[in-house]
Amino acid sequence: MRKLFVMLLWVSLATIGPVAAKTPDDIRAATEAVDTAAIAAENADNWLGHGNDYREQRYSQLDQINDDTIENLGLAWSFDTEFNRGLEATPIVVDGVMFVTGNWSVVYALDAKTGKRLWKYDPEVPREWAKMACCDVVNRGVAVYQGKVIFGTLDARLIALDAATGEKHWEVQAADIKQYPYTITGAPRVFKDKVIIGNGGAEYGVRGFVSAFDVNTGEELWRFYTVPGNPADGFENEALERAADTWTGEWWKMGGGGTVWDSIVYDPELDQLYIGVGNGSPWNHKIRSPEGGDNLYLSSIVALNPDTGEYLWHYQQTPGESWDFTATQHIMLADMEWQGEARKVLWQAPKNGFFFIVDRSNGKLLSAEPYARVNWATHYDMETGRPVETDRARYQDKPEFIRPSSMGAHNWHPMAYSPKTGLVYIPAIDALFKYGDAKNYLHQWGHWNLGIPLEQDAAPNHILAQLMLRQVTTGSLLAWDPVTQSAAWSVPYQRPWNGGVLATAGNLVFQGTAKGEFRAYRADTGEQLWSFDARTAIIAAPVSYTVEGEQYVTVLAGQGGAFGLVAGYEQEGGIPPSRVLTFKLGAEGTLPANPEKILFEAPLPEAVTEEEVKKGRTLYHEYCSGCHGVDAVSNGAIPDLRHLPPVFYENFDAIVLDGMMRKAGMVGFSDVLDKEDSRLIKAYVLTQAQEDRKIRETPSWWMSIKMVFFKTVANILGWIMDKV
Ligand code: CA
Repeated sequence: MRKLFVMLLWVSLATIGPVAAKTPDDIRAATEAVDTAAIAAENADNWLGHGNDYREQRYSQLDQINDDTIENLGLAWSFDTEFNRGLEATPIVVDGVMFVTGNWSVVYALDAKTGKRLWKYDPEVPREWAKMACCDVVNRGVAVYQGKVIFGTLDARLIALDAATGEKHWEVQAADIKQYPYTITGAPRVFKDKVIIGNGGAEYGVRGFVSAFDVNTGEELWRFYTVPGNPADGFENEALERAADTWTGEWWKMGGGGTVWDSIVYDPELDQLYIGVGNGSPWNHKIRSPEGGDNLYLSSIVALNPDTGEYLWHYQQTPGESWDFTATQHIMLADMEWQGEARKVLWQAPKNGFFFIVDRSNGKLLSAEPYARVNWATHYDMETGRPVETDRARYQDKPEFIRPSSMGAHNWHPMAYSPKTGLVYIPAIDALFKYGDAKNYLHQWGHWNLGIPLEQDAAPNHILAQLMLRQVTTGSLLAWDPVTQSAAWSVPYQRPWNGGVLATAGNLVFQGTAKGEFRAYRADTGEQLWSFDARTAIIAAPVSYTVEGEQYVTVLAGQGGAFGLVAGYEQEGGIPPSRVLTFKLGAEGTLPANPEKILFEAPLPEAVTEEEVKKGRTLYHEYCSGCHGVDAVSNGAIPDLRHLPPVFYENFDAIVLDGMMRKAGMVGFSDVLDKEDSRLIKAYVLTQAQEDRKIRETPSWWMSIKMVFFKTVANILGWIMDKV
């Protein structure tokens, strides 16, 4: 009798109750069906490709969640990862199963309805390799194709897993990390039984390339280098032989750069592959190519034959690139009427601040207009397709403040396009950066080799530094009309490093912010309709899908990435785990409060001169600030060197020089620093700690008065910088 009851209960649960979790057979059946045709098709219920379908417009046709119903949107579930660094991945969703990547290239398969973990795969990235990653231990997602989940790792491997179980099918070393400090943070793209991946490392000195692998075996099918190697070794193809004419000096000794670290787009209509090529290595053109030259194919969009990797055409946006102006940003495919003619185009809003419309059948520039404040060029000459540079652009005789900054007017954070409004939504940045020539440039293996000092002018104290940062570095969500090449509306943000964007048929645009809000706006007007406290910064882009006919929206929350590490925005609380957040109508979930922030008091600095602290500052900004933050203010997820437990200061040399903490990702720097350098860095850090302590110990009434003064100073400085 009891048995029968249990059986009846089981039957009723299975038929009318909550649906049982996805079995490996369910997942296998669903993911086996994902192929080139499936990704190319408009499939509202799933999110099959990185930018949804191959056009990468990041538009969802779902409209249950819309400008009317949005007020009922709430948290359906959240999934905590075991790390608290930046999350940049776009989830791939196939029939109720979600595949995401977290920190250290870990992959998770989740039930898209409940957030239950189905499997996890940890590629065990050696933590020491974090030093070779310019921009955090991030990963922008997986590709799914015929039952496989494919992803890149920080130490430049490409791995294919069984989508149903998470077991490994194959693994290849996609770039030679014994010779060069390559990393992979980008999402692979898949089509016609091939998987394409590029790599990063142009801040360190590598030679960029993309390669195609057989999706079933991992065999490398072709490779396309974006910059020429040593002419004495011969060139891989004619396109590189032609490119070599645009270089001077001995660039190959410094790598040359041109990494394809993010945008790779397959165009099924024209059967072409477009890659966005990165900055030069080192950044400074005068060092890289002393007698000038355009340096092809840096900062270019290059079209390749997807089957062979052969060069088809290119358009170079920034000839003689010298500012970290990559063309790796999101490339979107579209059809549009241009001057009365139907054209197949691509759209890109790269770092250099101009919105490009390129005819993708032949690479011809149709239009380039500034979508942000720009002072390195006045406009593009439409006859030649080249920018007309200003006098300050090449910081010829003295350092110059250039807009946009090396962060770009738009970075990797994906844009979105709504065919309903005709607008492209850009996570835009307004910032400047002081570029100048590094003295006595020396190429150092495994370190940043920019040819430009990263150290910016020192503010009298870190409160003023933070206020100044807020004055000169801001962000916005910019709705851009590509037909008129002008802004339709924009929403300003105090901080620059905001999330990627999703547009939906519900007249909505979703975006997370640097301050940790997940927001929805009306797509046509920019009116804010909804927000949710994510308790940590959001940099990733949202996606939308359905399970059993119900619409969901998912976004990853986790602060970090390049600016998220380097820019010292002091966090009020401790950092929560980085999470996957999923929303639906009628849900009312909440997130737990953040952990408390623990501040250890640093010892007082030993007797040092002002000159020594200054030297320590320069060394700190050359070797430490990329992770521990400008002015020794960290983002909280990476140890703040002003507030370490005492034992760290006691073992400072052993950590900084000998790599005592290498298993945690902090390698030794004895190849470039000696004991004296370590002493100076420590002196600078402890001086910063002392200054921070003084501010915290200042009575609040006196601090309020001081803050009025600081804000006034920051406003005046901001006003002056605004004119640049
Ligand atoms: Ca770069």
